[in-house]
Amino acid sequence: MTDDARCPCGSGASFATCCGPVIAGNRPALTAADLMRSRYTAYHRGDIDHLRRSWDPSTVPSGVAFDPEIRWQGLAILDTQAGQALDQEGTVTFVARFVGDAGERELRERSRFVRHEGRWVYIDGDPF
Ligand SMILES: [Zn+2]
Repeated sequence: MTDDARCPCGSGASFATCCGPVIAGNRPALTAADLMRSRYTAYHRGDIDHLRRSWDPSTVPSGVAFDPEIRWQGLAILDTQAGQALDQEGTVTFVARFVGDAGERELRERSRFVRHEGRWVYIDGDPF
């Protein structure tokens, strides 16, 4: 994937101006939804480092791993609560489509985000 290709998160922007700088650590995510997008893109690209960095230290699994059988197909953000530039916490409700061993599936989650040392991080989420 080249940097001017469309970002996997579905924003319509290029990877170089969307999730690319967030994943590279060159620009913090402004909103919880921006961090959510960058985490989806990190799953899509297999970027474990970004997933670890964007996870709250209190909930990050000891082994963050990817299922190599899963191919991510797209992200739709359905709703956001707070999580804006001046907020300290927020939730993002999304559907992520993927193809795995069992065929086409959806991950539907309401994710919680907080600020940790000034930056948005993922805490956990509930399926819906
Ligand atoms: Zn993106």
